[in-house]
Amino acid sequence: MSRWVPLIVFLCLSAVDVSGAASAGGTYAIRIQAIRVADDDGSRRALVEAADVVQWVDFANTCYRPAGLRFLYEPERDFTDLRSTLLNGVTGNTDPDWLEARAEGNRVAATHPDALVVFFRHGPDAEPTGAGFSWWTYDFIVMPGWAVAEHCGVEKPKMLSHEIGHYLGLPHTFAGMYQSEVGAELAFERSELDPGCFDGDGFTDTPPDPLVRPYECEDVDRIALMGETFVLPRTNIMSYYFEAKSLSPQQAARARWIAAYRREHGMSTPSHAGVDSPIELESLKVIRTSGPTKTDQPMDGFGRELWSDGTQMFFGDSEAPSHIRLELPVDKPGWYDVTLYGTRAPDYGEVTVLINGRRCGHSFNAYAPLVLPSGAIPLGSVRLRRSNVIEFRTDTRDEASKGYLMGLDCLQLKRN
Ligand SMILES: [Zn+2]
Repeated sequence: MSRWVPLIVFLCLSAVDVSGAASAGGTYAIRIQAIRVADDDGSRRALVEAADVVQWVDFANTCYRPAGLRFLYEPERDFTDLRSTLLNGVTGNTDPDWLEARAEGNRVAATHPDALVVFFRHGPDAEPTGAGFSWWTYDFIVMPGWAVAEHCGVEKPKMLSHEIGHYLGLPHTFAGMYQSEVGAELAFERSELDPGCFDGDGFTDTPPDPLVRPYECEDVDRIALMGETFVLPRTNIMSYYFEAKSLSPQQAARARWIAAYRREHGMSTPSHAGVDSPIELESLKVIRTSGPTKTDQPMDGFGRELWSDGTQMFFGDSEAPSHIRLELPVDKPGWYDVTLYGTRAPDYGEVTVLINGRRCGHSFNAYAPLVLPSGAIPLGSVRLRRSNVIEFRTDTRDEASKGYLMGLDCLQLKRN
């Protein structure tokens, strides 16, 4: 059953999810752009036809109704072909050429800024793959052909819904996979009987999921480990069970929030990787803080490629409003357009920026249900001296946020 395996599994810290500002009101319609991939020479084309995709999208529309999301797909309009040996062989983030494939997938996806891009591909081997994958740190979903996608011996209309979940910020319900109950029991024992060791998503409304793979297709709805009974989330779309089809309320809220965030950014997750001549905030000298010490935080595990230099400046207090002053030197005094690139996270505050004592731009709400780059935040035109003081304050926070922390990546200064 290793076919039903997306390979992208880094654990994400996440906790109780409350929808925030980005997800208010209405139903979102999201167009699906289906792209059938073949090798550069046209061979090994994915085994999918335009009409097949309708079944996947219909299933997704039932599954994501509680999230207020509706997927639009018209076979004549939204199905195209692409030749790319690189994308046709992609299997996930353990591929030797994953970085190249991800960049190419993002590049193609960016040409459809109004759509969720799904690549249907053959796979790396002579036999077509039956697996798919996605994650919220890049801008596309990878699927197999309809003819080869199966689970428990039947066609798998749920598969696109599962991958849409990853694309919209949902991890698996399970934290690990076991080949037998004995394996799961050993893990439970090692955790000193903490059921949380089976919790893959941090949501309080999806139960811990000790995934015993042989049970995926069997009629087993609960298992007992060391005397404790676990009711398996068999109908949850982010599980691996045969009956997977639905979302919990917290999952629905998360998916909706991330859908709104992606829509604000051309159906992409913002990236600071291409920022021209960035001033890394972690490199600036600290003048004064409200107490805590700032740290340089490598963003490994959150999609480090999305942050300039893969590192951010992390600062603040979970419990209390926080502020930090940094020295900002410039070679040539004058007027500059200043742009900030920051981070959003479940426990971040609302960030206000002051340069030389003057407030710049609007404060930005750095709450998000996941750790995500903010994208460009314009701070306006500012007159800079040779030596300047830049201050970041979190005096307030979103009601959904659990703290007043802040994460700041870099600044861009453009003379005007
Ligand atoms: Zn998955």
